[in-house]
Amino acid sequence: MNKSFIPFNRILMGPGPSNVNPQVLKALSKPALGHLDPQFIELMDEIKSLLKYTFKTENEATFVLSGPGSLGMEACLVNLVEPGDKVIVAIGGYFANRMAQIVEKIGGHVIAVKETWGRAIDPQKFEDAFKQNPDVKVAAFVHAETSTGALQNAKVLSEVAHKYGALVIADTVTSLGAVEVRVDEWNLDASYSCSQKGLSCVAGMSPITFSARAVEHIKKRKTPVQSWFNDLNLLLSYWNGPGKRAYHHTAPSNQFYGLHEALLLLKEEGIENSWRRHKENSNKLVARLKEIGLEPLVPENERIPNLLTIKIPEGIDEAKVRTDLLNKHNLEIGAGLGELAGKVWRIGLMGYNSSEKMILFCINALKDVMR
Ligand SMILES: *Cc1c(COP(=O)(O)O)cnc(C)c1O
Repeated sequence: MNKSFIPFNRILMGPGPSNVNPQVLKALSKPALGHLDPQFIELMDEIKSLLKYTFKTENEATFVLSGPGSLGMEACLVNLVEPGDKVIVAIGGYFANRMAQIVEKIGGHVIAVKETWGRAIDPQKFEDAFKQNPDVKVAAFVHAETSTGALQNAKVLSEVAHKYGALVIADTVTSLGAVEVRVDEWNLDASYSCSQKGLSCVAGMSPITFSARAVEHIKKRKTPVQSWFNDLNLLLSYWNGPGKRAYHHTAPSNQFYGLHEALLLLKEEGIENSWRRHKENSNKLVARLKEIGLEPLVPENERIPNLLTIKIPEGIDEAKVRTDLLNKHNLEIGAGLGELAGKVWRIGLMGYNSSEKMILFCINALKDVMR
């Protein structure tokens, strides 16, 4: 007989999703509202204002897409890139590769600046690509490359791109809420994130922001945006419309309650405090991992604090360790992705999970299964 589904109470310490704050889970079960209900429009405005705080931006075009981080990636690219445009993509991992694939689907011309997986993009290499391609329209990079554990110097990369007149798209899917992100100060023209990593919410929402310059660029496109769902002009008529908003799609009201609660909790903590907490706990976790003979792949000054890639020691069956962690300790950590498959584990300390208690739990579980 069919019966209600009861999920295991897993500890999610991989590259995402991470565990949802219990207060967020409670918010999700409030009564549904219509997507044009005046009270719901008020909630949307609240979410917008909390997202501006989180992204450190005054951008009017700051809102949330009803879909995962990948939808935000596609939205930024499909709005800013026209067929035939040259786009520089800094590629040092799996997610930057995905950006390049999307550019190609749109008919853009990818100029790849390749970096070793596990290292931050070299700004000099990035600049050389602009020197050789002065007609580049858009530059894209992944701030925190979750597949390798490397964090880019977003401010410097953005400066380089602007020097050559390009618009900048930054993926902040893993960094937002957990690592310093300053959209306005760093002059990022478009950025997108997700709900299930640093924000401790359920998956399926993508916070996104566009600068005034980016919005202007989109209005002046020679060709129509090649997506109905992700066309910024249509999305803004729902999010920023004067007075009465226009129906675009049925916004998932309960998910919005969850995101609102998650953003509120982040603001209560103070975003700078959250950045600091993630950094401190990261340092503690690295120290404890070293004690049991495990070393991070990425040099310290290029490392994402909330997502560590750990080199797998000689003679260890990496898949068995992960299976044992899951079966014996209810603990999920991530496998290596792409070029790093079989070479690293990925351990996330994100949002609600970035705490001393979780560090201890993870270390003890690892010690137990590696014995
Ligand atoms: C997780 C992730 C994505 C994709 O997000 P989804 O919510 O899985 O679609 C994109 N970029 C980076 C850097 C990520 O870590």
